Amino acid sequence: MLSISNLHVSVGDKPILKGLTLDVPAGEVHAIMGPNGAGKSTLGYALSGRPGYEATEGSVEWAGEDLLALDPAERAARGVFLSFQYPIEIPGVPALTFVRTALNAQKRARGEEEVAAPAFLKLVREASKALKMDFDMLKRPLNVGFSGGEKKRMEILQMALLEPSLLILDETDSGLDIDALRIVSEGVNALRRPDRAMLVITHYQRLLDYIKPDRVHVLAGGRIVASGGPELAHQLEAEGYDKYLPEPA
Ligand code: ADP
Ligand code: MG
Ligand code: MG
Repeated sequence: MLSISNLHVSVGDKPILKGLTLDVPAGEVHAIMGPNGAGKSTLGYALSGRPGYEATEGSVEWAGEDLLALDPAERAARGVFLSFQYPIEIPGVPALTFVRTALNAQKRARGEEEVAAPAFLKLVREASKALKMDFDMLKRPLNVGFSGGEKKRMEILQMALLEPSLLILDETDSGLDIDALRIVSEGVNALRRPDRAMLVITHYQRLLDYIKPDRVHVLAGGRIVASGGPELAHQLEAEGYDKYLPEPA
């Protein structure tokens, strides 16, 4: 269970999250929707422990632990995984090498044995096949020259191998055509498990036709201002966020 209570997060001196409270039980998928600049990405960064996103007040508990007391590597070792809105490109590092390094770093942090090359290749071949990825693409530098859909599949592949327990998807739908959206959604849906919680951050309702959320929350002005079932996403699509925006001063 993810339990966020009265969370305040500042970037520099600027308060962005201002008393955000949210519970996500294990096994559930919750969607976070909201206008641009509401603080959705900030929430993802704060949960993953990105430097510069400082929690000034409130608490975050994950699987019975104080998440805010852990550094980013410790959070990753406990299965916190943030899928970026804008995946990074790493010239010179083949995607395969990157994924293997990440996987083995996580194994070490968990006190587990590293995966040997043959076993790793077998894992990746299976995972890439399920995502309809061309295996040869994984020999190329990470994300360099990959299309939007290929970058997203790359992230889903990493996720599948790293077996996260708390999964945060930040606008995974941006820049995807319909086929890519379906493949990514199927990849995400395949990761649903009773002991996993997922936060799906999105600007549009479209993704939620494929990844069916248990709950939908509206984030505006740094707080959760409304919560409901999947019908709330349809309502937002039809009506927009106007009624949740702060009154102009
Ligand atoms: P969303 O993902 O909902 O569009 P963000 O979390 O990206 O919103 O941003 C929330 C607010 O925080 C915005 O006003 C944005 O300009 C500001 N912000 C985010 N990151 C930084 C940063 N590194 N420095 C200064 N302001 C930032
Ligand atoms: Mg944004
Ligand atoms: Mg964002």
